[in-house]
Amino acid sequence: MQIKGRVLSVASECVPLIKTGGLADVVGALPEALARIGWDMRVLLPAYRALQRYLEDMDEVWFEPGLFGGDARVMAGKVGGLDVLLLDAPHLYDREGGPYSGPGGDWFDNARRFAALSWVGARIARDGLEGWKPDVLHAHDWQAGFAPAYLMYGGTGGVGSVLTIHNIAFQGWAPATALGDLRLPYEQFYPAALEYYGGLSSLKAGLVTADRITTVSPNYAAELMRAEFGMGLQGVIAARGADVSGILNGVDTGVWSPGAEPIAYSAKAMQGKAANRAALCAEFGLQVPGPLAIVISRLTDQKGIDLLPGVIPDFIAGGGGLVVLGSGDPALEAAVRSLEARFPDQVAVRIGYDEALSHRMFAGGDAVLVPSRFEPCGLTQMYGLAYGTVPVVSAVGGLADTVINASPAAMAVGAATGIVFHPVDGLAFGQALRHLLTLYADKTAWAQVQKNAMRQPVDWAGSAAAYAALYEDLRA
Ligand code: ADP
Repeated sequence: MQIKGRVLSVASECVPLIKTGGLADVVGALPEALARIGWDMRVLLPAYRALQRYLEDMDEVWFEPGLFGGDARVMAGKVGGLDVLLLDAPHLYDREGGPYSGPGGDWFDNARRFAALSWVGARIARDGLEGWKPDVLHAHDWQAGFAPAYLMYGGTGGVGSVLTIHNIAFQGWAPATALGDLRLPYEQFYPAALEYYGGLSSLKAGLVTADRITTVSPNYAAELMRAEFGMGLQGVIAARGADVSGILNGVDTGVWSPGAEPIAYSAKAMQGKAANRAALCAEFGLQVPGPLAIVISRLTDQKGIDLLPGVIPDFIAGGGGLVVLGSGDPALEAAVRSLEARFPDQVAVRIGYDEALSHRMFAGGDAVLVPSRFEPCGLTQMYGLAYGTVPVVSAVGGLADTVINASPAAMAVGAATGIVFHPVDGLAFGQALRHLLTLYADKTAWAQVQKNAMRQPVDWAGSAAAYAALYEDLRA
């Protein structure tokens, strides 16, 4: 296939090499999805200690002397089908621990560690590697936030830049005194440029210097301009309004497909769904006459888990059931456990992280509950759509973009894919669960919503096309 363009992706995590959260899934999925439509993406990552084993099969393609306290090189090679560039700077990355922290907490020099990644990303974007010159630099989150800034301040060389926000909560803060150490120009230290509440933020630096800004759903892009969601950066993002857009994440449909489960099913053959449901109920000793709901989540206030104790007793009384898989806040773990103790035939709780069980739950559940207070994109509602496990979601972030409420109008035109409630409180959530009970009781309507859900495209194709269009725009 003819190559349409080249993109250097700069990030701190990438599946299958290193992952602490959803960022890694996106960074790892994009290159393959883009390759299918002619875009050549390479991913620049720090060579953490856990990644050092890959270096011996790689070729040195860049040498960077004196990179924040030591010499560094960039090694190129393929890992799991991806074109990867590893920044080998042992003085910054060859340490015991995770990407951001060691045994004693966050690394003291994180600002410098990720400034180094951004510095080399900007240099490679500007000058290109031998035989490979990027058209666009794509930076992800605060860890790569300085990359568009270095590119702008050092001369772009005609390369466009995009910054994607996966999580606005982490902003890469550093004191103003770090300006020189981080190789940033003193004259840019003012509120409309690098200054952030008297200090520095690599995320803000990226937001003011990148040509374009994206986040992981259109609705979250709009929400980020408001004080409730912007976490201090709402003004900066609103000021860039015209350059901000949202592109939904996709799902790896090789891993998440009802046809690939041990008891396989499809929208046409929903008997398989019934068999999965029976197996799930048997696994947990449940007897549930009405809809069997599932929750698979970090147990935190962000995810609205604290609302469950208020709404689940009525749902149980109406014949519903609940299986919870997750871990997190001890008080919330205790709260869901007490529901299990109170309703042992209709509620089951598993504290922990269990990928295989999560598949059995999506395959066997009737509905997935996602009552988040904020949700940049959200994946579990998309697995729910793919599996005909009807999502019941709050109307925030990517949840509002991906689920169509079963209102009378949406039912009439055959568009409904789930239940959407607003505001995020016990009253609205309780009403949504009552709606779930009545919808489930109407077998024809229920089957229709399941089918509509399973017809929704949740793979990466649409999103990859949207990123490609953005890159194309930048090149023009
Ligand atoms: P977030 O990244 O904010 O936690 P997402 O919905 O974007 O929320 O992604 C969460 C991912 O983690 C989903 O793939 C979900 O299935 C998975 N997950 C969360 N908790 C568990 C768990 N306890 N066991 C298995 N998978 C889990």
